[in-house]
Amino acid sequence: MSGTFSIVTLGCKTNQFESVAMAEGLANSGCQQVDFATGADLVIVNTCTVTAATDSQSRNLIRRARRINPECRIVVTGCYAQIDPQSLNQLPGVSLVIGNEEKKELLTYLAAKRDGGEIIVSDIRKIEKAETLPLTSFAQRSRAFVQIQNGCDAFCAYCIIPYARGRSRSVAEGEILHQIENLTAGGYAEIVLTGIHIGQYGQDLVPQRDLLSLLQKIETTTFSGRLRLGSIEPNELTPELLDYIATSAWICPHYHIPLQAGDDGILKRMNRHYTTAFYRDLLCGIHQRQPDAAIGLDIITGFPGETEEQFAATCDYLESLPFTHLHVFPYSRRPGTPAARLPNQLPGDLIKERAALLREIGERKLAAYGAGFVGKILEIILEGGGDNGLKKGLSENYLNVLLPLDAGQQGESLQVRIVKVEGDHLVAEVIDV
Ligand code: SF4
Repeated sequence: MSGTFSIVTLGCKTNQFESVAMAEGLANSGCQQVDFATGADLVIVNTCTVTAATDSQSRNLIRRARRINPECRIVVTGCYAQIDPQSLNQLPGVSLVIGNEEKKELLTYLAAKRDGGEIIVSDIRKIEKAETLPLTSFAQRSRAFVQIQNGCDAFCAYCIIPYARGRSRSVAEGEILHQIENLTAGGYAEIVLTGIHIGQYGQDLVPQRDLLSLLQKIETTTFSGRLRLGSIEPNELTPELLDYIATSAWICPHYHIPLQAGDDGILKRMNRHYTTAFYRDLLCGIHQRQPDAAIGLDIITGFPGETEEQFAATCDYLESLPFTHLHVFPYSRRPGTPAARLPNQLPGDLIKERAALLREIGERKLAAYGAGFVGKILEIILEGGGDNGLKKGLSENYLNVLLPLDAGQQGESLQVRIVKVEGDHLVAEVIDV
């Protein structure tokens, strides 16, 4: 194959991982990757449908691709394509719509010239095996993602992902270790284990495995960098797993644990299987083991029927919880989910108003956490880009750190001393070790 291509991606680390793998496949087949804004012969739009906003962003990207190059072929994939291929196929310029599972056959479809307005989307809930898309490098990134699992069987009431990503299925251990060896050879100082529901890792494998056994296997590889865990459900962080992470020198002291609501009544209606008391004990247990660890949580505000009292209880609960990073998601009604059929859908303005109040709590918590590291030494990995003539790096405990431009090269791992807080960043100086 020949010509230029560009890929634009919305959504989670799993989608980003798949885009990097599709790009590597196209590049290996002779196509040249160019920036989306410059216009390409072939444009891949890897969509997300987790909220109404991402649906709209996906459609806008398709329209933009056509405006930039009216002659381009547009292939649409990702979760929006999996859930509603017809409406995307009707957009002007779309020449092929493929599902999430069909991503690994992209080159085959293009070679067979099947991009004449076709829709190729299989029933993803029938897929039993997770085949990881091969990749040897992670584009121009300083940290590499490794997909270990796909799909989800939890069916939280508000969530469209199980319908877009299929049932939970694990990548074979050998494939994961092989990919980590590849990326280690590529010099990546950080690897992020990602998936839709990584706490379910290994449950479908024969013999059964789990995330802890996988981490113990990774410890035997040549990987010498740091490893970060993607988002993991509260009731899957077992005491054994927490002890292992807390005593390891190579797993980042950073947890991302979705909470979703600070009220037991709402958690129940969300089909989330834990209580606020359980969640508090979990965070306190992490805090006791690793007082300096970063703990990030997701919260949805404006779930149908959320009363003023329940929202106030959520605010009080968050204020009293030992966390450091807060990701606030205004509830978005997803057709086909149980929550979309619930009465008492709240008005958009109220949802936004509540989200803004929660974000304030999050900003205060993060600022207090960051300030606690002034004068201390952290390990950071330099990322691309920077702000105000400074280079940007990410610490093992998920803090954004600014450094002088001559601090080092992208992807380099550095020991730094935090000198001050500046907005939502820390400023540091490199220390010679
Ligand atoms: S665990 Fe719940 S929120 Fe997460 S992907 Fe599965 S259904 Fe969605």
